[in-house]
Amino acid sequence: MKVKTRFAPSPTGFLHIGGVRTALYSYALARKHNGKFILRIEDTDKKREVEGGVQNIIDMLNILGLEYDEGPIVGGPNGPYIQSKRLKIYQKKAEKLVEDGKAYYCFCSEDRLEKLRKKQIKEKKQPMYDKKCRDLDPEEARTRIEKGEEYVIRLKIPQNKTLSIDDAVMGHVEWNSNDVDDQVLLKSDGFPTYHLGVVVDDVLMGVTHITRGIEWLASVPKHLVLFDAFGIEPPVMAHMPVILDPDGGKLSKRKGTVSTEEFLKEGYLPEALLNFLMLLGWSAPLEREYGEKEREFFSLEDFVELFSLEELNKASPVFNRDKLIWFNHKYINNLSPDDFVIEYTKWLNKYSEDENLKNEIIEKGPDYLETILELVHERVELLSEISDLIYNFYFKPETKEIEKILKEHKHTKKLKEKEIQKIISEFSVELNEQTSIKNWGHDNWESCIRDIAKKLDIKAGQAFMTLRILTLGSPISPPLFESMEVLGKDEVAERLK
Ligand code: GLU
Repeated sequence: MKVKTRFAPSPTGFLHIGGVRTALYSYALARKHNGKFILRIEDTDKKREVEGGVQNIIDMLNILGLEYDEGPIVGGPNGPYIQSKRLKIYQKKAEKLVEDGKAYYCFCSEDRLEKLRKKQIKEKKQPMYDKKCRDLDPEEARTRIEKGEEYVIRLKIPQNKTLSIDDAVMGHVEWNSNDVDDQVLLKSDGFPTYHLGVVVDDVLMGVTHITRGIEWLASVPKHLVLFDAFGIEPPVMAHMPVILDPDGGKLSKRKGTVSTEEFLKEGYLPEALLNFLMLLGWSAPLEREYGEKEREFFSLEDFVELFSLEELNKASPVFNRDKLIWFNHKYINNLSPDDFVIEYTKWLNKYSEDENLKNEIIEKGPDYLETILELVHERVELLSEISDLIYNFYFKPETKEIEKILKEHKHTKKLKEKEIQKIISEFSVELNEQTSIKNWGHDNWESCIRDIAKKLDIKAGQAFMTLRILTLGSPISPPLFESMEVLGKDEVAERLK
């Protein structure tokens, strides 16, 4: 049997990071078995759809390298892969279910259903359709439809049966069919509900393994009845536990970033995000496969090679944001200088709104950027931090800003204006005498500044910090002399003036 998996998001928002985990696991399962991975857009709830949602899902999968074999744009043998373009298919299937006695027409009004629901809640009963139309004579139903009466199609759940699955993650789960609602399959506007759409498509697309969030587990008994009505064995199912926020509860927008694009905008590398997500619910079988005990770094290829449903964890993982930053720092650190320039430039062009900086970077050319980036490379945790770190290599710091920092910083605030002037003049003398900053060497510069400090009876740290703030406009900067070297002797002299 050829393995076929699918990722079936609804474009009710931009791609959620939890969705990427689901997609990643489905992708790995298909690749591992040389199977096929499908992207299917479940957009039948038009009211909840957000503009740009579909495109965002496609773009994000693309950037993350989770390539699909069948789906929107790429097509495939069982398309279209956007549910709203498959309405006829669902309508036909629903009619066929009615014909086969597996579903029925229901004419109950919204008003009646609402009253019923309220009554059941009042009686502390589980709200459920009372099956009023279940035994209507089919002829009578057809006549009512011909007369133009509104209807929906409901699934006929068999009574007194045990419905069960052996979920690959959650284990054996069973339900009493008497607790399962006669679910609406086709709405009065001709749109399918999620339940009809998902099962029809999983059947027609030949899906063999379903990986999705645990929130869909409760729908499984309905789906089992539907698979049975279509005469198809249900696929293997793996319901993934909820991802928890470190502050408790579900990972949610209110507590921090959850949108994939937002993470990219904050400067995470796709590889770091994927590595972090791999470990959010999966334990690598290292001992078994490699005889290794510990390892945290996995490329997408490693993951595909090692992945199996058996190693998925049932317990809810915590989305440890510090760990994610740690991963990103490591991944950025491991980039070659060239790739670091490429990643930052990509980020800058896509997400930065600082047009002045962008223009200046182009103006000064790639070699200058590469030299500066080498100075900051090690400390960068997020690509979005870089612009601030390198800004003053492109623009002279404002005098007012410098004065303010000097007055506030703990190493410089006690210095008198005269002392600052003196640091500048003494340093400038030395600068004038050298052909370049580099030629004189790091050690000489260092002892020169120590001498100046001694002469003025201030601490060496005060002198270093003053020069740092004056030339680079910030108390936090890459190493002082290396930075001066990049700026060049003349520029440093100019800034000191
Ligand atoms: N369309 C559902 C969602 O947006 C996915 C359900 C499924 O994978 O079966 O999460």
